[in-house]
Amino acid sequence: MKKKDHKYIFVIGGVMSGVGKGIATSAIGKVLQAKGFNINPIKIDPYLNVDAGTMNPTEHGETFVLRSGLETDQDLGNYERFLNKDLRNENYMTSGMVYQSVIERERNLGYNGKCVEAIPHIRDEIIRRIEKSASLNGSEISIIEIGGTVGDYQNIMFIEAARVMKGHNPKDVLFVMVSYLPIPGKLGEMKTKPTQNAVRQLNSYGVQPELIIARSSEPLDKKRKDKIAIQCNVTQKHVVSAPDIESVYDVPLHFEKGKLGDSVMELLHMRPRKTSGLTAWRNFANKSKRLKKEVNIAIVGKYFDTGNFVLSDAYISVIEAIKYSAYKFGAKPKLHWLNSKEFENGKKKVGSLKEFDGIIVPGGFGETGIEGKLQVIKYAREHKVPYLGLCYGMQLMTVEYARSKLRLKDANTLEINPDARHLVVDLMPEQKELLKDKNYGGTMRLGVYPAKLKEGSIAHSLYKEKKVEERHRHRYEINPDYIERLEAKGLVFSGRSPDGKLMEIAELPKKEHPFFLGTQFHPELQARPLAPHPIFNGFVKAVLKFNESK
Ligand code: GLN
Repeated sequence: MKKKDHKYIFVIGGVMSGVGKGIATSAIGKVLQAKGFNINPIKIDPYLNVDAGTMNPTEHGETFVLRSGLETDQDLGNYERFLNKDLRNENYMTSGMVYQSVIERERNLGYNGKCVEAIPHIRDEIIRRIEKSASLNGSEISIIEIGGTVGDYQNIMFIEAARVMKGHNPKDVLFVMVSYLPIPGKLGEMKTKPTQNAVRQLNSYGVQPELIIARSSEPLDKKRKDKIAIQCNVTQKHVVSAPDIESVYDVPLHFEKGKLGDSVMELLHMRPRKTSGLTAWRNFANKSKRLKKEVNIAIVGKYFDTGNFVLSDAYISVIEAIKYSAYKFGAKPKLHWLNSKEFENGKKKVGSLKEFDGIIVPGGFGETGIEGKLQVIKYAREHKVPYLGLCYGMQLMTVEYARSKLRLKDANTLEINPDARHLVVDLMPEQKELLKDKNYGGTMRLGVYPAKLKEGSIAHSLYKEKKVEERHRHRYEINPDYIERLEAKGLVFSGRSPDGKLMEIAELPKKEHPFFLGTQFHPELQARPLAPHPIFNGFVKAVLKFNESK
């Protein structure tokens, strides 16, 4: 399995979590990609969940779905966006996955009667998975982000696997620590001690980081750089200052300035290749800074209860997808998070929506706040405000249409009211079977499915293709029994599964509404900085037009 000459970079967090290890990993990847290499990022999550599908987004952030349908950590989304490439199952690993496969092998007598133990069996399974991932798709450098922080009990086994890999091939394996340097308010001085301690803790596992990315609110000065170098056993030039900056897209540019790419090349005994470097990326990152025009977009949902911190994590792909399209058309998006419950309990009136240039109802699950969302959708439809419904947002726009236009007053989705007479959104028979056995994990309609587009529709004019592939994550579907009636009243199902049974896109024709469109899939999962998504392009264009017409 082992691939000759493949290089491995392990990224480990020091001091605390939440300092941007995922972005740092993505940015290292970008810098090395710009040096001409095929990058293979791997995220390791030390929890026992077998995938990220069952976790609450307010605690864990968005669940990012790969083409294959695997439900992963949001960092995979960052990797895909930064590297502009589709990732596969082998790019993600949890402790749960590792233990599950070792235990299954044990049950199948795969260990020949031996006692199966964490060391060596779990450790070796981790190494096997990393090496398998490295062997795919002609990749040359794997960057493995170990979740959590040095000192966590959960990630010790992964660090141990990395240590063993380094022992076997010292020249091919590099350890990077992403650390944090606090500046306590009362002192006003940047402190290196927590970083020193984190490195010592890592040393106690037999691992020495050779490159330290020093995250802080301010740039590192010479004094602290010297101190970290001496106390942590690294060369001064291999301590990279990483202060807070406005946009994550500047991080690769910032790293390049700090010569991070050259350091990696040196430490891994490599030579860069000739490429156009980060030119296209730089253009994208710089363009966004020059923009003056602002558009206001309301996002109406529910995962807003835990305050602003987690919020952006729960919808990170949506936020980024909006940005890419807005930048493309020369505007800066200002996002407003509206809790749909407030429209229900009267705290907010739908009339207040008139200050916005566009409205999005994003994905969601079995929630309260539905009636509020329906009110918002009705407002967007009647007042011709550009509307984009993502997954749940498409299901609910169909429910609203059925209630208003087909006069089916109790139309609903099974998810909310199984007793409703008109289940416009329903479960497919195979999903019913799964739920009978409480078989929730990994059993939704997941990953890429094709959709055929209707000629002359808005969707078709945006994609400029007749057949597209988009990523899904949902259990419910538009009920085929209502399609004819809905279409007779003007709603167009402009994207359908090739067999015609599943509705993928719903829209109102341009003459009825400037942009009123929903997708059963999640277009945001395939939007990339250098390749904005057609659906978001269409939405943002309508938003700009609406803004200018005011
Ligand atoms: N809850 C809906 C379903 O399961 C929509 C899911 C989503 O928005 N991702 O079908």
